[in-house]
Amino acid sequence: MPELPEVETVVRGLRRLLPGRTVADVTLGPHTVVRHPQGDAFAGAIRGRTWSGVERRGKFIRCRMAGTADELIVHLGMTGHLIVTEAAAEPAPHTHFRMQLDGGHELRFDDARRFGRVLLGPWDALVQAALLPALGMEPLGREFDRQLFHARLRKTERNVKAVLLDQAFVAGLGNIYVDEICHLAGVRPARRASSLTRTQRDALFDHTPAVLRQAIRNRGTTISDYRDAWNAEGTNQERLLAYGRGGLPCLSCGTAMRKSVVAGRGTTHCPRCQK
Ligand SMILES: [Zn+2]
Repeated sequence: MPELPEVETVVRGLRRLLPGRTVADVTLGPHTVVRHPQGDAFAGAIRGRTWSGVERRGKFIRCRMAGTADELIVHLGMTGHLIVTEAAAEPAPHTHFRMQLDGGHELRFDDARRFGRVLLGPWDALVQAALLPALGMEPLGREFDRQLFHARLRKTERNVKAVLLDQAFVAGLGNIYVDEICHLAGVRPARRASSLTRTQRDALFDHTPAVLRQAIRNRGTTISDYRDAWNAEGTNQERLLAYGRGGLPCLSCGTAMRKSVVAGRGTTHCPRCQK
């Protein structure tokens, strides 16, 4: 599933093409993943609008339009792709919308498994209507706060993996990068958060943005489905230290990495390096 670095890479790609382009027409597929508003209202509100910017919040892509508080909000789910392509290119299977842009390109969203979400509206209003979740701290933003991070971990009985996956606490982390952060911080993902030492909490806090920034530099992790806005794969999968390495030797100590299920998710850690 695309996490913060993959979504950020898509956003940076879209930012190079979308701003200034006007939507000439919108075509919706038969199995739309548009959650709000339904049908013609969605297409009607976008047709004729000009894109003014593209941003990211957590794992959500926010495409802003000139002259309105409405924005196009896309969550890629498990297998979604938001891509810009030549209008003449054959659409991918499971294409849920096509937006014809001036200049001969199209913005398209395809999603085979349909766990993706597409909404249109002002961000805050959609959160208030419970159509979008209230998200926690941006780990690459100024609001990523060490004291808040310590306080939250100290007072919860949940395990570290569950806490870091919680989008209402830190927005944008998922299975891959939580395993990487825990490995680099030397913390067992199943460890009860309230039992961590201050040093361990600091290590988790410090490695979170570092792991994400490295993955962004590598244009994201492509395990199977992820592609950026230009339909290109990332390269961070070659750099993973924990995720997907169950049974393989730890790159620090040589001990076999252990695969288990933590917080309902497949999880890999080194039983020697991670306490
Ligand atoms: Zn190890």
